Amino acid sequence: MTTANTTGTPALTEGVRAEATVDLAALRDNLAALRARTNGPELMAVVKADAYGHGALQCAREAIAAGAGWLGTATPQEALALRAAGIRPDQARILCWLWTPGGPWEQALRESVDISISGQWALDELLAAVRATGIPARVHLKADTGLGRNGCQPHDWPDLVDNAAKAQADGLLRVVGVWSHFAAADEPGHPSIQSQLDSFAQALAFAERSGIDPEVRHLANSPATLLLPQSHYDLVRPGLAMYGLSPVPDVGTPADYGLRPVMSLAARLALVKHVPAGHGVSYGHHYVTPGPTTLGLIPLGYADGIPRHASNTGPVQIGSGRYRVAGRVAMDQFVVDLGGETFEVGEEVLLFGPGDRGEPTAEDWARACGTLSYEIITRIGGRVPRRYVGGVQ
Ligand SMILES: *Cc1c(COP(=O)(O)O)cnc(C)c1O
Repeated sequence: MTTANTTGTPALTEGVRAEATVDLAALRDNLAALRARTNGPELMAVVKADAYGHGALQCAREAIAAGAGWLGTATPQEALALRAAGIRPDQARILCWLWTPGGPWEQALRESVDISISGQWALDELLAAVRATGIPARVHLKADTGLGRNGCQPHDWPDLVDNAAKAQADGLLRVVGVWSHFAAADEPGHPSIQSQLDSFAQALAFAERSGIDPEVRHLANSPATLLLPQSHYDLVRPGLAMYGLSPVPDVGTPADYGLRPVMSLAARLALVKHVPAGHGVSYGHHYVTPGPTTLGLIPLGYADGIPRHASNTGPVQIGSGRYRVAGRVAMDQFVVDLGGETFEVGEEVLLFGPGDRGEPTAEDWARACGTLSYEIITRIGGRVPRRYVGGVQ
């Protein structure tokens, strides 16, 4: 049972220091909103990095309930953990894209994890594992169409494709996907966008001429899912947008895209006290009270993922008032200047959420800290308990 106020945002659980509430109904609704903006491609719910801090297993299950047939992870460990928790291949294909020597390829084969291959070394290790286990691999060949990160460069692509096609002819693998990733889909009009679309079309055409007939061709992350229909192909791979944040905050708010933030972060005031003018606050005294005032102690710090860059700037809501971090964020706690207001110890402090109660958003924190909302939500640490509401699984 969870309690909820009239706006649907649950209050902090009794007795907790701090809590991240994860609204799984919002997650499902966001996937439906994303689907409504596309013309039929399959959905891959990107649940890497513990689902951007929201809880990989819970989010994966809800995404499947909302019709996602694919899950995306960075590391093999993330993919294997989902299978170990009971997510079966007939419920969701899992694509894993960040491999290092040693794999573990054999476990991935046994657990039906789809494997992204960006270079010959990985294909060689994978084929050795296929021969050892007798289990053919499901491979997605990744082209570097301009991001310059993972993926195969155009001049190495013909060899990689030919070698994969040979292995496919030998029954060792099936190339089920050809894919790539954008560098700047969040900057509409950026010249790299068209260039990557063209380069992807060429990489795909070469693969098809070489006898590769992929089930899914895929390129679109969240901003491309929202803004570039020509990039959707057979599958889109939203991460941030599924968690209800705008990947293009200067272009549109979450509400503009029918999205609602999934994570809310709240804490309980740990201390309220009166201090005189000229009192230094927190390490280094980077804040000094301008007059007699009240200080509130918030029991969250950089060990919980509150950026130290939020020192003297991060916003919080207490009651109907908006306050800012006073002085440095410490490992476990930070202070706000309450400007003479007195709140009860234990009062709920809202750091971020959908904004229904006047609270800041993760985007507000990102702007205050000079970073992206991606980083704000993903950093929320393991010491902060997650509370799940609205789940159907
Ligand atoms: C993280 C990631 C995504 C999702 O990106 P968002 O911008 O959060 O939608 C998609 N594809 C790959 C390869 C990724 O690494």
